[in-house]
Amino acid sequence: MLLVAVAQRLRKQLGELDLARIGGDIFAVLGTDARCTPAALHALFAAPFSIDGQDVQVSSTLGLVRLVEHDGSGPDALKDADIALKRAKTRQRGGHFYFSRSMGVEIRERVRLMHALRRGFRRGQLFLAYQPQIDLANNRPYGAEALLRWRLEDGSLVPPDRFIPIAEYSGLIVEIGAWVLREACAELMRLRAAGHRDFTMSVNVSQAQFRHPQFVEVLRRALVETGAPPAFVELEITESMAMEDPGHLAEILAAVKQTGVSIAIDDFGTGFSSLSHLQRLQVDRLKIDRAFVSEITDSARSSIAEMVIQLGRNLGLSVIAEGVEDERQAQILHALGCPLAQGYLFSRPLSPQDLRVWLGTHGLG
Ligand code: C2E
Ligand code: MG
Ligand code: MG
Repeated sequence: MLLVAVAQRLRKQLGELDLARIGGDIFAVLGTDARCTPAALHALFAAPFSIDGQDVQVSSTLGLVRLVEHDGSGPDALKDADIALKRAKTRQRGGHFYFSRSMGVEIRERVRLMHALRRGFRRGQLFLAYQPQIDLANNRPYGAEALLRWRLEDGSLVPPDRFIPIAEYSGLIVEIGAWVLREACAELMRLRAAGHRDFTMSVNVSQAQFRHPQFVEVLRRALVETGAPPAFVELEITESMAMEDPGHLAEILAAVKQTGVSIAIDDFGTGFSSLSHLQRLQVDRLKIDRAFVSEITDSARSSIAEMVIQLGRNLGLSVIAEGVEDERQAQILHALGCPLAQGYLFSRPLSPQDLRVWLGTHGLG
C-alpha cells in the first residue's frame, strides 16, 4: 500500500516526466536537470503518506546521473545511478549523491578485487602469519595472533586492510573466516605437538562472520575436528562490533563462551564503548589499540593506555597491548600493570616455520 501511495504521488507530481519502479522500493525518474533537482525530489516525500488511515512518514535517498556527462547506454546509466544510490545509502541516508567517474572506477576496482579474492582463496593464495604475544612479567611467549595474508601470483602481498573490508562487504569473509579458524586451530595443534603446550592462539573474527547464524557451529566444528583445546583459543572482535546491537551480541557471546574459548575486544579505546554494555558482555580481555601504545611517552601519567589497564582491572578483565615497538613502551606498560604485549619489539608476524624457530630461542611457550 505504501508503494502504491508513493507511486501515485510521484505520478501526480512528476506527471510529464518518465517514471518507473525498477526495484523493490526503488523508483527511477528521467527528466531535465532543472526539474530533477535533489531538493525537488526530496520535497515529494516531505508530507506523510496516508496508509489505511495512518500517517506514514518515509524518507528518500537519491542517486543521480547527469546524462550530458554520460556516454553509455540506457542500462549503463541506470547502473551508474544505482552506484550513486548505494553510495548515498551508505554515506548519507536521506541525502543524495551524483554519480562521478571516480565512483565507477572505485566500484569496478572493488568488484575486480572481489573476484580475484574469491579465485585466490580457492587457489590457496591465502595463508596465516603468526605474531607472538608476550608475558611481560617474564618476557616469555604467551601465544600468538593469527593474521591473514594474501599473496598474488606475481608474489606481491595485498594488505589485509585492503582485502578484508572487501571480503566482509561481499560476504566472502564467512567462508574465509571459517578456514582461518580451522587453520589457526590446526596450527595450534602442531605447536602443541612440538612441545608448546602452554600456548594460546588468537583469531580475528569480523562482524559478518560473528553474526552469521552458523558461526557457533563453525567454531565448534573447527575445535572438534582439529582437537584444539578451547581454553587455548581466543577470538578477537572489534570494539565497534561489540557496541552494535549489544543485546543480540550478548547472546552470541554467551553461546561462544559455552564452547570454552575466550574473547578479547580488539582495538579497544577507539570505539567509544558504553561502559555499562561492556560490563554486561562476557568478554575476557581488552586489547589496547596500538594508537594508544604509540602515544606512550616518558610521562605515561593519565594516558589512555593507563586508563584501559585500570578499567580492565576494575572489571576483572585481562589486558594486552598491541603495537609495542620499543623497550620503553614495554617497560611503562609493565609498570602500569599490563600483563601481556604484542608488537614489532618482540616480533613481526611470522610464518609457522619462523614461529617455531622464534619460540625455540625465546623459551617454551
Ligand atoms: P589487528 O587485529 O588489530 O592486528 C594488528 C595489526 O597490527 C596487524 O596488521 C599487525 O601486523 C600490526 N602490528 C603488529 N605489531 C605492530 C607494531 O609493533 N607496529 C605496527 N605499526 N603495527 C603492528 P595486519 O596484519 O596488517 O592486519 C590488519 C588488520 O586486519 C587486523 O588488525 C585485523 O583487524 C584484520 N585481520 C587480519 N587477519 C584477519 C582475519 O583472519 N580475519 C579478520 N576478520 N580480520 C583480520
Ligand atoms: Mg586482532
Ligand atoms: Mg588491533
